[in-house]
Amino acid sequence: MTYNWIDHDLLILEKANWCRTVRQIPSEFVNFGSNDYLGLAEDDRLKNAAIEAIEKYGTGTTGSRLLSGHRDLHDELEAKIARLKQTEDALVFSSGYLANLGTIPALVGKRDLILADQYNHSCLVNGCRLSGATIKEFHHLDWQDLEFLLEKYRSVFQRCLIVTNSVFSMTGDVAPLKEIVALSSCYGAMVMVDEAHATGVFGKNGSGVVEMAEIDQPIIQVGTLSKAIGSLGGFVAGTAKLIKYLRSRASTWIYTTALSPADTAAAIKGIELISSAPELREKLWQNIRRLANLLHREKQNELGSSPIFPIGMPDIPSTLALAERFWQNSIYAPAIRPPTVPSPRIRISLTAKHSPDQIDRAWEILKTIRSDSTGVE
Ligand SMILES: *Cc1c(COP(=O)(O)O)cnc(C)c1O
Repeated sequence: MTYNWIDHDLLILEKANWCRTVRQIPSEFVNFGSNDYLGLAEDDRLKNAAIEAIEKYGTGTTGSRLLSGHRDLHDELEAKIARLKQTEDALVFSSGYLANLGTIPALVGKRDLILADQYNHSCLVNGCRLSGATIKEFHHLDWQDLEFLLEKYRSVFQRCLIVTNSVFSMTGDVAPLKEIVALSSCYGAMVMVDEAHATGVFGKNGSGVVEMAEIDQPIIQVGTLSKAIGSLGGFVAGTAKLIKYLRSRASTWIYTTALSPADTAAAIKGIELISSAPELREKLWQNIRRLANLLHREKQNELGSSPIFPIGMPDIPSTLALAERFWQNSIYAPAIRPPTVPSPRIRISLTAKHSPDQIDRAWEILKTIRSDSTGVE
């Protein structure tokens, strides 16, 4: 009896088409659902770095960084991240999710205010909730709404933290960082920006949107090692004092086992390649321009485009049907639906490894729905 509610809830999920399942994508499929933007996750150089690290250090780190888990590899990785991000220091977490979950509650608490973009990633949302601060959401990308909220609420609270993705996972658009940071200075607010989808992708050196937008103030940058960097783990980058503080205050860093030698070494190599092989980034952007042209989005400027292309659909059944049509053609293009997003869509993400021909094949299938449905963007 005690657990019967699970049956009941599962039935509701299934009726609403909200029930999720996993499936492995066959290796011969073209994958348009990957965050491996530069194709580094299967790169021999990363694999070899991971294998060498396992041979030298073993598979596990045996403890947290503050106890038995710290290795010189972690120092090396943190120095590499700080260099890429042009910050004084950096701190590596076991995932991007944990980086956000630990950092936000370390920065703000009950007497403080958080202003958050309404489409922020789940781990930012949960990090904000965990902090106990008062949370006000501003309209997606809308810095004027942010200004309105700052004007209205800032003075009532002690600290204030503005939290935003730089590139949004489900819409692919880019936050107006320049305006957000300018506002933060006027109102005495901290800024935390999640560059999970931007690191390795944006900016001349592949540092992210912070680099591209030429932000020259010491804001708080978070990110993941699992997308363009091709490994696993997360990080915070910022001033030496911020990082020193987080080492004593971020519970998801203090009370968890240090990142494995293999993941750490692969991430080091991934960041090296982001710096030394800009042609991977070039290739990715060629692919982005190709699909944008096909979708007639060529009018979007650099700030408005990213590797992520949401294809808006009228309802869940048609979204699932389109995903299935892709699947029948040996293409993986995931259906994303509520509650992950407010409205259903097919989400195409591009990597440097896609060929022009593969992008054209996806377009051939997308074309078929553009004529027979209305909700397509
Ligand atoms: C993927 C993602 C994360 C989570 O990173 P993991 O390392 O996979 O836990 C955090 N923030 C954003 C914006 C993301 O897209």
